[in-house]
Amino acid sequence: MTNYGLVIDQERCIGCQTCAVTCKQENNVPMGQFWNRVLTEGGDHIDTPEGSYPEDGETGNLDMQYQPTACQHCENAPCVKVCPVNATYTRDDGIVEIDYDKCIGCRYCMAACPYNARVFNWDEPEHRPDDGTGDVAERPQGVVEKCTFCSHRVDEGLDPACVVNCPADARIFGDLDDDSSTVSEYVANYNTEQLLEEKGTDPNTYYVQGEMTPGRTWTSDDLESELDDDPSAESVSADDAAGDEPVPHVPAEAGGGDD
Ligand code: SF4
Ligand code: SF4
Repeated sequence: MTNYGLVIDQERCIGCQTCAVTCKQENNVPMGQFWNRVLTEGGDHIDTPEGSYPEDGETGNLDMQYQPTACQHCENAPCVKVCPVNATYTRDDGIVEIDYDKCIGCRYCMAACPYNARVFNWDEPEHRPDDGTGDVAERPQGVVEKCTFCSHRVDEGLDPACVVNCPADARIFGDLDDDSSTVSEYVANYNTEQLLEEKGTDPNTYYVQGEMTPGRTWTSDDLESELDDDPSAESVSADDAAGDEPVPHVPAEAGGGDD
């Protein structure tokens, strides 16, 4: 059975916030709300390292990583368990979703989620531009909302918008139940961690630390390390082949996920 998951390579992430912004655009997320936040692991403030600066000929030990954080799509999701009206549920493909018609705004799920992944529409949601740019209906006042892994895109065989638009290729999406999928190979071959593993939520989102994973080429899912030729040369030839037509980053015919 399909079980969608995401790998985020913290060695690749440059903290550009593109995933956070593209998520808002794609999902019509209201002003003041974020489904996807890029946190800083380091000092006390965003974009601030911990440690000491080099002084008096010493090398210093500054350290900082970015941690993009959204709904982790937990297999053992506490938000699903506490919802008194079954508005929060897990799809057969592992994506945790909310039925906004059922949601009564009790916010039990927000209290239960250890990742602070959910937001509540206290007021009538405000959108800029008014209609948003994604094909996702806005949610009303008084409901909880969160990341859906862009299920509207996944259902069309496309990757989530944050995965497609990450300029550092730090996000990999696919079927965790398929051992040959790219996302499964990343989990198997790299030092991946789940956030707050001790909570027993078993997230479907994994973080890579300590070793930068190979990037993928612009026009396919091949990894750079699997290519005979320089990927930049391949991009040029793809441009030529397409003429004036834009080349999609994620082919429409590719099954949900990048593999
Ligand atoms: S778009 Fe990619 S590089 Fe930029 S913050 Fe998000 S994960 Fe990091
Ligand atoms: S991250 Fe939070 S909202 Fe998402 S499935 Fe886990 S408990 Fe639920």
